[in-house]
Amino acid sequence: MPMKRVYTFGDGKAEGNAEMRNLLGGKGANLAEMNLLGMPVPPGFTITTEVCNEYTLKGRDAVVKLIQKEVEDAIAHVEALTGKKFDNPENPLLVSVRSGARASMPGMMDTVLNLGMNDATVASLAEKSGNPRFAWDSYRRFVQMYGDVVLGMKPKSKADIDPFEEIMDKMKEEKGVKLDTELDVEDLQNLVKQFKAAVKDFTGKDFPDSAWEQLWGGICAVFDSWMNERAILYRRMNQIPEEWGTAVNVQAMVYGNMGDNSATGVAFSRDAATGENMFNGEYLINAQGEDVVAGIRTPQQITVEGSRRWANLQGISEQERAEKYPSLEESMPTCAAELIAIANRLENYYKDMQDMEFTIQDGKLWMLQTRNGKRTGAAMVKIAMDLLRAGEIDEKTTLLRMEPQKLDELLHPVFDKSALKRAKVVAKGLPASPGAAAGQVVFSAEEAEAWAEKKKKVILVRIETSPEDLRGMAVAQGILTMRGGMTSHAAVVARGMGKCCVSGAGEIKVDYKAKTVDMGGKTYKEGDWISLNGSTGEVYDGQVPTTEPELGGDFGAIMNLAAKYTKTLVRTNADTPRDAKQARSFGAQGIGLCRTEHMFFEGDRIKAVREMILSSDVDGRRKALAKLLPMQRADFEGIFEAMDGYGVTIRLLDPPLHEFVPHQTATQKELASEMGLTLEEVKAKVDSLEEFNPMLGHRGCRLGITYPEITEMQTRAIIEAALNMKARGIDVHPEIMIPLVGTLKEIQNQADVINITAAKVFEERGESVPYKVGTMIEVPRAALTADQIATVADFFSFGTNDLTQMTFGYSRDDAPKFLKFYKEHGIIKTDPFEVLDQEGVGQLVRMGVEKGRATKPELKVGICGEHGGEPSSVKFCAKLGMNYVSCSPYRVPIARVAAAQAAIEE
Ligand code: ADP
Ligand code: MG
Ligand code: MG
Repeated sequence: MPMKRVYTFGDGKAEGNAEMRNLLGGKGANLAEMNLLGMPVPPGFTITTEVCNEYTLKGRDAVVKLIQKEVEDAIAHVEALTGKKFDNPENPLLVSVRSGARASMPGMMDTVLNLGMNDATVASLAEKSGNPRFAWDSYRRFVQMYGDVVLGMKPKSKADIDPFEEIMDKMKEEKGVKLDTELDVEDLQNLVKQFKAAVKDFTGKDFPDSAWEQLWGGICAVFDSWMNERAILYRRMNQIPEEWGTAVNVQAMVYGNMGDNSATGVAFSRDAATGENMFNGEYLINAQGEDVVAGIRTPQQITVEGSRRWANLQGISEQERAEKYPSLEESMPTCAAELIAIANRLENYYKDMQDMEFTIQDGKLWMLQTRNGKRTGAAMVKIAMDLLRAGEIDEKTTLLRMEPQKLDELLHPVFDKSALKRAKVVAKGLPASPGAAAGQVVFSAEEAEAWAEKKKKVILVRIETSPEDLRGMAVAQGILTMRGGMTSHAAVVARGMGKCCVSGAGEIKVDYKAKTVDMGGKTYKEGDWISLNGSTGEVYDGQVPTTEPELGGDFGAIMNLAAKYTKTLVRTNADTPRDAKQARSFGAQGIGLCRTEHMFFEGDRIKAVREMILSSDVDGRRKALAKLLPMQRADFEGIFEAMDGYGVTIRLLDPPLHEFVPHQTATQKELASEMGLTLEEVKAKVDSLEEFNPMLGHRGCRLGITYPEITEMQTRAIIEAALNMKARGIDVHPEIMIPLVGTLKEIQNQADVINITAAKVFEERGESVPYKVGTMIEVPRAALTADQIATVADFFSFGTNDLTQMTFGYSRDDAPKFLKFYKEHGIIKTDPFEVLDQEGVGQLVRMGVEKGRATKPELKVGICGEHGGEPSSVKFCAKLGMNYVSCSPYRVPIARVAAAQAAIEE
């Protein structure tokens, strides 16, 4: 049987279903499924994602030929179900051409509505419907969308104006009207004429009259849009592979712009911001397609309750609300009831919060889309827990519903309650995406990026946002828009990113040219501080201080579930008792990496460190080290106490000594006089420490081997601290870790120094404490000879930062320069320093684990590189059977959930 490339749906039947989202895309699969569920969906068909890949490979002509027959048959199917005819003015069938990838990509791909229109069909549509305004409104929308999307007239940069918008704005100005609904038939006819002239101007050709030509243009434009810049950027930000491709959905049009008994809208089965179990949504009367989210007119709420809440936030009286902005429940009660019933059924069916699109044509409800809704981190946790408590999903599913990265949003500060009471509210908008944010005002995505690069906190203030603003939104602390509702682009994208967002703050005045925003009687310039409360929609003057969030409730319940299912422990990377305590509160079970060198910089210590480095003989070094001993011991005591009951891995000195000596003449002079040396002597020593490539130089165990007295002092500090804490009743588990080992001899040498020193301390004190000696696996040679190294090591900890650096041969400090370019040009998919390169570096990790355990089956194995807190890397480590992953304190909850998911997925 030849490969099937087109799947039809309509009238309660469908060739596809919800399970087929890889082939049909999310939209296509769910349109099919809604049909099977007997819901009102306009008939249509889906061209598969595989065809998109064929298109990229073979090009337009070959693919059109390949699918022509199937598409023609599918159109005939839609004609039969609607009783209308495509490319025929008698009773014209108009269609929408919609993209739809596997993962939803909001606003990324453009849809063409009302396709099939020309001068003949518009006349017949006007006559048949008895509503010429509707017919011409549809026509002018079509010419504009087709011009923008298919003929490439949409401006590439924001600075340029859409040629069609320009024509329309001019006409509105001449007529002295504000809304497009205020234009009459003659205006619309005039618009179509001018639009077509603009098309001819741009393309040199007449606007295509043939519906078939239009259709093929539309289909191919969707495939082309898969490779447009916006789509590529979104895929990169969300790690969506290019090979997935997009499907094309062609669907009979239903018209929300047929008059006051028609409408279009979006709805959510629960609150996407808070997770509250409350159906909600927005609609616009006499409107089509994206009008609701485009922020052209003020959308109205679907439920009475939602409408009242909204009016309250906007400061609108109940009377004004009921008159001017009634809810759908009030204006079209039957449709509202049907919509709510469908939403309930869909949620029960998919067992997750649904985000739906609908259109009401002349009093009849049509469903146009449903998908699992995007949500904030807080909503993600609450919705999953609510569904679990309601018995809709089980514990494992609850955990799998977590996007681990999003838990981060719940760990971050909220506004300090008392400071908030004093804060001056300068504007109020919609609580589009919760959270607290303070930053300096900027007015464009470019500025936001530039300021963020300089480590500044910014709030991006826009009249409204569009997909071009994505990069700027990603780096801003928060987003404030003047226009747009709860489902505007800004709101949806911000919730997806977990960014604080206040949208539709109608009374503020943004002036892009002057770079100012007027709020609460004050003019804010670029760089002025404001604060946003994404949970209430309030905007405050200045920088409002924030406090730590609460971690109980549903968040705590998710953490408990993670603990129940995980097979991998999560430790933390912490160098201070404070970080250790913080991480413990997030559920860390031990320290996977305590870097001792950070302790060398504090207060007066650096002096003793420098003294040690500058000493010309062992005795001098020992004298300086003796000064450091009590300080290091005290540090370790604090950390052991904070990690009572858990293992603490302490790494011996790692960085090159050059990092500790002064490089400025003034400081060198000071040091010289303190040590009774000449400036020249100090300079000479500093110069002698200089290395061409310090990362590959005299560092790690190479230091401890050449200066064993350093290892002796650190071991003594660790063991003495452990004994002292043990004496105070604390359960200590010291693990001494040797960095940068590449050969068996290296670890043997250092292990000997450690064991001899420990034995000495035990003898002196007349008591002992169990301890472990292990090594980082971060030099490729260590992974390759892990079987030998394991004869000495009690544990391995993969230092994947250095391992990545040395496996790729990329210096971590220099790589950002070209990795950015690599990413943009598809040379690499993700930064290997963020996401573990499983294919390459991962092989060394796997080999290290396997070889190590072949020698010593009980070998304890973990990871302590940055990757230990990145979900996909955590899962990889968990699947290799590591005992633990270790990451920075704020990533502990993320790693815990990722590790539990890995156990469940196995
Ligand atoms: P996106 O993926 O960007 O949401 P969609 O394909 O869902 O794009 O469509 C854009 C808008 O057009 C939505 O509001 C949708 O409801 C509307 N739309 C799509 N197809 C039809 C149709 N056949 N009839 C009426 N409206 C439609
Ligand atoms: Mg949509
Ligand atoms: Mg290292």
